[in-house]
Amino acid sequence: MNTAPTSAPRWVYLFGADRTDGDAGMKTLLGGKGANLAEMANLGLPVPPGFTISTDVCTAYYEAGRKLPESLTPQVDEALETIGRIVGTKFGDTDNPLLVSVRSGARASMPGMMDTILNLGLNDETVEGLVRRSGDRRFAYDSYRRFIQMYADIVLGVDHGVFEDILETFKNLNSMQLDTELTADDWLEIIESYKAAIADAIDRPFPQDTGEQLWGAISAVFGSWQNARAKTYRFLHGIPDDWGTAVNVQAMVFGNMGETSATGVAFTRNPSTGVKEIFGEFLVNAQGEDVVAGIRTPQHLTEAARIEAGSSQPSLEALTPGTFAELVAVFDKLETRYRDMQDIEFTIQDGKLWMLQTRSGKRTLEAALRIAVEMAEEGLISREEAVMRVNAADLDQLLHPTIDPDSEKNVLTNGLPASPGAAVGEIVFHAEDAEAAKAKGIDVILVRVETSPEDIHGMHAAAGILTARGGMTSHAAVVARGMGRPCVSGASALQIDARARTLKIGSTLLKEGDVITIDGSTGQVLHGRVKMRQPEMSGNFGTLMSWADEFRRLGVRANADTPRDAEQSRIFGADGIGLCRTEHMFFEADRILAMREMICAEDEEGRRAALDRILPMQRGDFEQLFETMAGLPITIRLLDPPLHEFLPHEGSELTSVAEALDISVEKLRARVRELSEFNPMLGFRGCRIAIRYPEITEMQARAVFEAAIAAGKKTGAPVKPEIMIPLVIYRREFDILADVIRGIAREVEAEHGVSLDYEIGTMVELPRCALKADEIAAGEEGAAFFSFGTNDLTQTCLGLSRDDGGPILQTYTSAGILEMDPFVSIDVSGVGELVQIGTERGRRVKPDLKIGICGEHAGDEASIRFFHEAGLDYVSCSPYRLPVARLAAAQAALREKGVG
Ligand code: PEP
Ligand code: MG
Repeated sequence: MNTAPTSAPRWVYLFGADRTDGDAGMKTLLGGKGANLAEMANLGLPVPPGFTISTDVCTAYYEAGRKLPESLTPQVDEALETIGRIVGTKFGDTDNPLLVSVRSGARASMPGMMDTILNLGLNDETVEGLVRRSGDRRFAYDSYRRFIQMYADIVLGVDHGVFEDILETFKNLNSMQLDTELTADDWLEIIESYKAAIADAIDRPFPQDTGEQLWGAISAVFGSWQNARAKTYRFLHGIPDDWGTAVNVQAMVFGNMGETSATGVAFTRNPSTGVKEIFGEFLVNAQGEDVVAGIRTPQHLTEAARIEAGSSQPSLEALTPGTFAELVAVFDKLETRYRDMQDIEFTIQDGKLWMLQTRSGKRTLEAALRIAVEMAEEGLISREEAVMRVNAADLDQLLHPTIDPDSEKNVLTNGLPASPGAAVGEIVFHAEDAEAAKAKGIDVILVRVETSPEDIHGMHAAAGILTARGGMTSHAAVVARGMGRPCVSGASALQIDARARTLKIGSTLLKEGDVITIDGSTGQVLHGRVKMRQPEMSGNFGTLMSWADEFRRLGVRANADTPRDAEQSRIFGADGIGLCRTEHMFFEADRILAMREMICAEDEEGRRAALDRILPMQRGDFEQLFETMAGLPITIRLLDPPLHEFLPHEGSELTSVAEALDISVEKLRARVRELSEFNPMLGFRGCRIAIRYPEITEMQARAVFEAAIAAGKKTGAPVKPEIMIPLVIYRREFDILADVIRGIAREVEAEHGVSLDYEIGTMVELPRCALKADEIAAGEEGAAFFSFGTNDLTQTCLGLSRDDGGPILQTYTSAGILEMDPFVSIDVSGVGELVQIGTERGRRVKPDLKIGICGEHAGDEASIRFFHEAGLDYVSCSPYRLPVARLAAAQAALREKGVG
């Protein structure tokens, strides 16, 4: 048999001053940390030598049933020897031991993976070598006990509380406060107690064999790829399971070797504000974990920061100007190389600077905007790259109103500023009530003792959330921040009686429907409606948005139903209105009666009487919309009222409508019963109402045309309304209603002696409409434009009710059947295909057919990318989502060009 050895795959990659095998481009193989260590070494920066065991080993480890490949051993041994040679030590040597750190390093930063192990290679004998070499017993024993503690916790699974207890008891018995008070002999005693506790916990002694230590640590890193925390993190962040992690083994440098040693962390720019200044801290005579552990107060890196903080502890800049200057030069080099703000870890051992890590730093949105804009202005990155640097969905945080500082305020109490922005609304105590109010266009503040997942739909519907219990990471706080809803949490002075629907704060008693204001940026809860300041598109935000507009191909319009929405849309840079839901113009209390009269009228005469009252209201609203949006396109959709949202239900509603209609309550109740449906969302809606009662379309068309004439005269800009027919199934429906509209246009033209310019298009909200798009668009008289209504299209394609699908979708998400709520992010492969089919068939008969989308998906980043790729002309979303949509549209276009 031929036994010629096949050469083993390469598993190990060196980095350091002498030889570096990798670079920043090798993240897939070496993980982020390993690739960046290699890159720093390539840049000539002082990196302690080490090696990376590649992510391929992780794959092999799991393929072999959690077993490391045999050929890894000689490669690791050789690499250890090499780094030992470079630093003049030997792994396991009792006289001059090489000590290493072992760290995980996946492709993407992955909290939840194994923590760092430092000082690996120490045992009862090698620690004496370290004593001799360093001449510092205390340092050597302190290093050893740290290693035992970390290793036992991370690799051997001994609870770290065991070690904390031992140390605390020792300190108490000896009347000590700080770890720094312990002497070398004290640490030696602690080490013995630690070892005894470990032997007790795992029934075998702490491993003294340094090889066993190393392989134990390496296996633990690979094992941690599949621990529960890491799996959850991957699931939440969409990181594929098969990426695997790398392991970095690196020669130790010591920041705890006395007063000329230190360890620190730094950002090359301020991660909260984005200001170009060095931001960071350090600790003298300490090891990495001390800085984050918060046991000692770290010192500032720069003098400026020290002075600003009023600290008496010297800055690094003052303490060691030479090392500080060297560090600053390293920061510059790293920013220039990575062209992004860096988050850096360093150690100073006996006056010599060592770089341990660099990566792109996490930052607030404010910082992200400033850094992107300034780096582009500095010429470090292009404007295109700057636009790619900001997460579009995050912009939501900047888009909330704030309390006008000049307004009068009656502060009821304070809670925690859990999610920024201010909100005004009527108090509701139950999630269902919040939803019901939202459907009626009423802004509410959802007030709860605390929130739970069952409240999510209500939190979504509320303008703001207020809780009595819970901190900054409570359910309410986390979810509200995620949704971009203002939230004040933990306002403990609230006495909530949800059953009685009352809220007591001090001596003030409030009840459901009373108005309060909350300020999620300060935590204030205020009585009544406080004046707000609308967000502005200024500063770096405005600059970045203007760059985004240069790069996007998709138009971004607003779904705006009222003149107030239209004004907000202009502030947020809408290219027009893509959907005016005319039924929403009637949610206000003083108008809903007219609408109810119209819906409940028994005959044409009654309906026409109600319509006569509605006409001036509609015309007035349209006129204001046209004026506000002067010069920009506006799509007005014919009435599409889901009847259950408008029918009178309760006693008082029934009475007032009956009075207005001059009929008995019984008769009205019978009419309401007649109109009620099992599935109102799939029932007598959209154009079906207009087909049955064309007088409604007549009124609406008249209101649109008369308003267009009036607004055109006022602004001097001719108005070209786009009239849209909802929920079309058949071409014939479209034709019938288009004829009604044309007829009215001719009448208005004759009455006013003008010629009207307008278009008639259709919503595409039903699968049949998408499939028959060619038929519906064909010819001069066919639809002049399409607007995909992906809310209804999703409902009807999936056969899941928009109103009742919530619990089902939740089950499906937890069961792993769905990753995303398809009503939030478009179901690309299903509903998306209908969009593609509709677009392709429509343009087949009308190549220049204008096509938009106005469902909720128009404000979702991933969906926008899909709509861009599907070749749509515009997306139309709610006003507060406009900046997100503008940025996401630009990013979709740039990504297509290969930027970012
Ligand atoms: C849609 O269905 O996507 C749409 C925009 O219409 P509505 O939400 O008003 O039904
Ligand atoms: Mg719809």
